[in-house]
Amino acid sequence: MKNTEIPYKIYLEENEMPECWYNVRADMKNKPAPLLNPGTHEPMKAEELAGVFCDELIQQELDNSTPYFRIPNDIRAFYKMYRPSPLVRAYCLEEKLGTPAHIYYKFEGNNTSGSHKLNSAIAQAYYAKKQGLKGVTTETGAGQWGTALSMACAYLGLDCKVYMVKVSYEQKPFRREVMRTYGASVVPSPSETTNIGRKILAEHPGTTGSLGCAISEAVEVATSTPGYRYVLGSVLNQVLLHQSVIGLETKAALDKYGIKADMIIGCAGGGSNLGGLVAPFMGQKLRGEADYDIVAVEPASCPSFTRGKYAYDFCDTGMVCPLAKMYTLGSDFIPAPNHAGGLRYHGMSPVLSQLYDDGLMRAVSVPQTEVFEAAELFARVEGILPAPESSHAIKVAIDEAMKCRESGEAKNIVFGLTGTGYFDLVAYQQFNDGTMSDYIPTDADIERSLSMLPKM
Ligand SMILES: *Cc1c(COP(=O)(O)O)cnc(C)c1O
Repeated sequence: MKNTEIPYKIYLEENEMPECWYNVRADMKNKPAPLLNPGTHEPMKAEELAGVFCDELIQQELDNSTPYFRIPNDIRAFYKMYRPSPLVRAYCLEEKLGTPAHIYYKFEGNNTSGSHKLNSAIAQAYYAKKQGLKGVTTETGAGQWGTALSMACAYLGLDCKVYMVKVSYEQKPFRREVMRTYGASVVPSPSETTNIGRKILAEHPGTTGSLGCAISEAVEVATSTPGYRYVLGSVLNQVLLHQSVIGLETKAALDKYGIKADMIIGCAGGGSNLGGLVAPFMGQKLRGEADYDIVAVEPASCPSFTRGKYAYDFCDTGMVCPLAKMYTLGSDFIPAPNHAGGLRYHGMSPVLSQLYDDGLMRAVSVPQTEVFEAAELFARVEGILPAPESSHAIKVAIDEAMKCRESGEAKNIVFGLTGTGYFDLVAYQQFNDGTMSDYIPTDADIERSLSMLPKM
C-alpha cells in the first residue's frame, strides 16, 4: 500500500469504538502475582479490599480469567466526548528524519486532563457512584490523574479529594486550579490532615513529598471517612483493563488499513498507558497469533524495569497498602526532584512486570535531556506540544526510526502519545535555558532502597 493511501489521521467512527475492555490476564499463562495482605502475607480477599476500593472494581482487580468486560453505556457515552482518539501517521516526522520507517502515534491528549488518565477515571468514578458512595480520594503527582478524576467526579456528582505531591502543588499552581474548577479539594502532601502525613512531616521536615506518601494519605482518608473509597490512576490491574480501550482502538485503526505493526512503544510510569496500548497485541502474542517488538521506555532517573528487582514491595511509603509483586526500586526510593514528568513511581504494574519477566517485552531507559530534545523536535514538526512523559516514547520511536534509516527497513512503528505538556513549561524552560540536568541514581542509591524490601 502506498503512503498516500493512509490518511494523516485515522479516525474510527463512533460505532467502531470498543464495546468491551480486554483483560490480557485471561491470556497469560503465568498470571501476575496476587496482592498480599501486608500483615499476614496471604493473598488479599475481596472482603479485605472492600474498605479501600469499590466493590465492582475489586472484582475486576481479582479476575484473571474473564477476557472481555462490557463497557457500561454511561461510560461509553462519556468516552464519546473525546473518543475515538486519532491514530496519527507522523508523515512530517518521518520526512524530517529521512527514515523509511512508518511512524504512527495514538494521541490521548485531546481532553482537558491532557492525558489518557480520563479513560480509567470515568470508569472508577462510575463504579463508585453506582455503589452509592459520596466520594473518592486519590493522590496525584504531575497532576494529570487528579485532573482526570476531578473531571469524572464533576460529571457524576461525586466529591473528590486529591492529595497532590507538594513539589507539584507548588510548581504547578495552574494544575491545582483546574482541579478546583472541577470542584475537587486539593491538599499538598505530606499534610497535617492525616496521621501518616504528620508522621512523615515530623521525620522529614521540609520534604517535598512523593507519590508513595500521597497514596498513604489518600488511603487513610478513604478508609476513615464513611462513604468514601480510594481510587488509583495506574499500576493496578483494573486500570490496565480500562486503558485497553487505547490498544483496541489502535488495533482497529491499523486493521482498517491493513497495517501490521512491527514495534509498539510506550512510556512506562506505573504501566497503565503501555499496558492498555499493547493489550490486544500482547494477547495475540500470548495466543501465538502474531509477534510484536514491545518496548517500555522509562526515565533513567527512575528505572524500575531496567535496574529494579522483581519482588513483593509496598505500594506506598506508609506501608498501609497491600503488597504487590512488581519490578521495583523499593518503596523508599525517591527519584531526583529535578526530573520533569509523572514517571516517578518506584514500582510497575504487576501485569507488565510478569510479561517483562517472561521475556514478552523489553525495556529501555533514557536520560531526560535527550527526552526533551526529542520532544522539541516532535513539537516543531508534528505541531503537538508533548507531555514530558509521552516524550520518552517519542525519543525511542525516533531512535528506532533512525536505525531503520541505517538498515533501510520500512518498519511500522507505533507509539503512545499519552498527553500534552502545557502544564510542564517549567521543565521546558529549564531545558531551553540549558539548566536541566540528567541525574541518574547510583547502584548504591538503588541498593539502599532495595535493602528495605519487605522480608518475605
Ligand atoms: C500518568 C502519565 C503517564 C504515566 O503513567 P502510566 O500509568 O505509566 O501510563 C504517561 N503519560 C502521561 C501524559 C501521564 O499523565
